[in-house]
Amino acid sequence: MSLLDKDRIFTNVHGFQPWNLDAAIKRGDWDDTKALLARGPDAIIDEIKASGLRGRGGAGFPTGMKWSFMPKEPRPDRPNFLVINADESEPGSCKDREIIRHDPHKLIEGALVAGFAMRARAAYIYIRGEFIREAETLFAAVREAYAKGLLGKNAAKSGYDFDVFVHRGAGAYICGEETAMLESLEGKKGQPRLKPPFPAGAGLYGCPTTVNNVESIAVTPTILRRGAAWFKSFGNENNAGTKLFQISGHVNKPCVVEEAMSIPFRELIEKHCGGIRGGWDNLLAVIPGGSSVPLVPAAQIMDAPMDFDGLRALGSGLGTAAVIVMDKSTDVVRAISRLSYFYKHESCGQCTPCREGTGWMWRVMERLREGNADISEIDTLFDVTKQVEGHTICALGDAAAWPIQGLIRHFRPELERRINEKNGGIMEAAE
Ligand code: NAD
Ligand code: SF4
Repeated sequence: MSLLDKDRIFTNVHGFQPWNLDAAIKRGDWDDTKALLARGPDAIIDEIKASGLRGRGGAGFPTGMKWSFMPKEPRPDRPNFLVINADESEPGSCKDREIIRHDPHKLIEGALVAGFAMRARAAYIYIRGEFIREAETLFAAVREAYAKGLLGKNAAKSGYDFDVFVHRGAGAYICGEETAMLESLEGKKGQPRLKPPFPAGAGLYGCPTTVNNVESIAVTPTILRRGAAWFKSFGNENNAGTKLFQISGHVNKPCVVEEAMSIPFRELIEKHCGGIRGGWDNLLAVIPGGSSVPLVPAAQIMDAPMDFDGLRALGSGLGTAAVIVMDKSTDVVRAISRLSYFYKHESCGQCTPCREGTGWMWRVMERLREGNADISEIDTLFDVTKQVEGHTICALGDAAAWPIQGLIRHFRPELERRINEKNGGIMEAAE
């Protein structure tokens, strides 16, 4: 089932109306927030659990469950914190940017509701450094909320004191990794920590912390107002709700759009993007979830449900739902090599398989792009991606390995063609 306008949570995602507090209130935000909080922290967490909401930052961890890991009786010297990840930097992802630009009060109200539910003293919104105008909007929206008594002491007349701080990043992709973000917030170099302990055990300043994505937090007040059953009526059992899809590349109309989870790929593109540039026969491949997930060839993606499980079954993933569409004019080897360069550049250098492996993989990818390699190196490269995957401190190592694995799995003949062409058709796979 695809989404009707009345079921959209983000009613201003395209910015047709002002973002400010008065306009947000007219759209239904901050509507008797006090009554939402009066339900109590446990009831709110139960409702979010029942809604089936899974984290919208890419990993899909159940949001209500994550909140329930937080201590119910925080010590005064060890308060609970909520950290909101607005360091959106995944190539292809641009949904959190649109929320902050056009609907920042959904995020700020969500911060209060989620923070209250997890008994947090304050929320820190860590916003990507390059989002300069978005940060200005967010600062202004937070100031509006304080001026109206919606944040601070007795926030929204709830009897609960809650602060929201906005912190600007400085341009490092790795600071979007949740523990690198905590390090950065503490004023240190943004390098990921080993997990466990997970942030709920030891997070910001060693205190219990939950890190959630912007979209995950921004949808929570609406879920509470309309009910878990309403949210769960979209998608399927394990992939519930509505979701912001960000569709870029070779479609007729790239866009950010809210749709029901599990919408088939073809329907998503036909309904919102006016189809593929040059028609469906011109589709080559799709990266369905941002640059960290493997691409899927055209024939496999057409009828695929756009959700966590459906795309995992194809050896890929929903990630952030950043759908990168490539038509047949794309040099797919060059595209993946370019992503390899990105991960090499953004590696924090802390662990050897990532620091050395990302550079090694990119250099081989470049030679494969030129056809300047031996055919046996395709398998060697695949083996190296397997040595990087799962052997690093954070997910950046996996993210660097998976796109290459997808390329080799689905486009080996293209890699071989380049090598053969360069060598006058005489190279053969090593025995
Ligand atoms: P992860 O699976 O390790 O963790 C997901 C979340 O669940 C984290 O908050 C983690 O603390 C929590 N968690 C997981 N297991 C837990 C446990 N046993 N106990 C308590 N908490 C637990 O994934 P990750 O490394 O946080 O994120 C990887 C994802 O990030 C990728 O899928 C990628 O799509 C996405 N990503 C997004 C962007 C972006 O711009 N939005 C950028 C890069 C990567
Ligand atoms: Fe740093 Fe890469 Fe290791 Fe992550 S995997 S900690 S980015 S070196």
